[in-house]
Amino acid sequence: MTSGEPGTEGSAPGAARDPGAAPTAEPVAWSALRAEVAACTRCPLHRSRTQPVFYRGGLRPHLVVVGEAPGAQEDRLGRPFVGRAGRRLDAALATVGLDEAEVGLLNVLKCRPPGNRFDPAAARSCRTHLDRQLAWLDPPRLVTVGARALAALDPEAPPILRCAGRPRTALGRPLFPLIHPAAVRSHALARRWADDVDALGAWLGRRGAGPREAL
Ligand code: SF4
Repeated sequence: MTSGEPGTEGSAPGAARDPGAAPTAEPVAWSALRAEVAACTRCPLHRSRTQPVFYRGGLRPHLVVVGEAPGAQEDRLGRPFVGRAGRRLDAALATVGLDEAEVGLLNVLKCRPPGNRFDPAAARSCRTHLDRQLAWLDPPRLVTVGARALAALDPEAPPILRCAGRPRTALGRPLFPLIHPAAVRSHALARRWADDVDALGAWLGRRGAGPREAL
């Protein structure tokens, strides 16, 4: 995935950026946030992680996908959504016609929880990193994958199977919840996933670029 970096070194979070500016090195403010997360010892997960998993994608994203926590592959490679679930998600995003640079991917938790058990207390400790990433990226739209990511952004949301595939608003932004791609383990959920991805494409105003079979 390529990064479309704005030419706004040291820009404040959410500051207006010149869309015509030539790509430069990663902006100072974003690098500083990345370094802060890399050195973070705010919760016990820093002891078991290989490395924090900060972000993958363009720096002027049309939408940001918020997941729950890094898994084993992500912990090893330092990039979010690079395991099997990530490949399913990438296929979905490609199917609705999104270019890689239009999308940003991150997690509520930056460090892998042992046994992949989501840690709500760690999520509270990590929240400031998430809020600062979203403030800096300032995406026009959000997508959550999984119940815990949805709950983090929209605590009042109904259970995930009731609201996945239906647009909402959270944090003052349009939000589209998806079930977690790792949860798609049955024919019924595979059909639900494909239907929700179709609905995502409609929400984005994109015509699907790929076949449902690719999902
Ligand atoms: S999970 Fe978040 S708060 Fe905890 S150590 Fe990692 S970066 Fe810091």
